[in-house]
Amino acid sequence: MKFLFDEMLKRTASWCRIFGLDVEFLPGKTDSALLEYAETNKLVFVTRDVELAERCAKHGVTRIFVTSDDREEQIAQIVRETGARLSFPDETRCPDCNGMLAVADRASVEGDVPEKVAERNERFWRCTACKKVYWEGGHWKNITRVYEKVKALLA
Ligand SMILES: [Zn+2]
Repeated sequence: MKFLFDEMLKRTASWCRIFGLDVEFLPGKTDSALLEYAETNKLVFVTRDVELAERCAKHGVTRIFVTSDDREEQIAQIVRETGARLSFPDETRCPDCNGMLAVADRASVEGDVPEKVAERNERFWRCTACKKVYWEGGHWKNITRVYEKVKALLA
């Protein structure tokens, strides 16, 4: 299952990638272009735009019309309506580009991360597409907290 998120849901798109969903995000495209892209590629269109949601319905594009302003509730709605499976951290995708992350050891990321980060961390991941390196930094706790909240909403 693949998703296309509209521009109003940029941050939610990044979060969903972290939680393992396959999310395309195409900034700067017109509504018609997005609709056509979703139709051609059989993507689930996630939107906050009621008109766009209605156009999806007319074109037979599976869509999720997001109503909540709450990030966790938005993610929970997507999972509820599609049955998509969240998988974090095992199948985390790059929040920037949607590439798959691969586990990387310290030696292989040296030079790509600040020295202190290399010293303090054991586990790293590298995006297989854009090559960005991730590690269990201070943001990790926040990510885990958001993930737990979403899981609680779905329980
Ligand atoms: Zn990437």
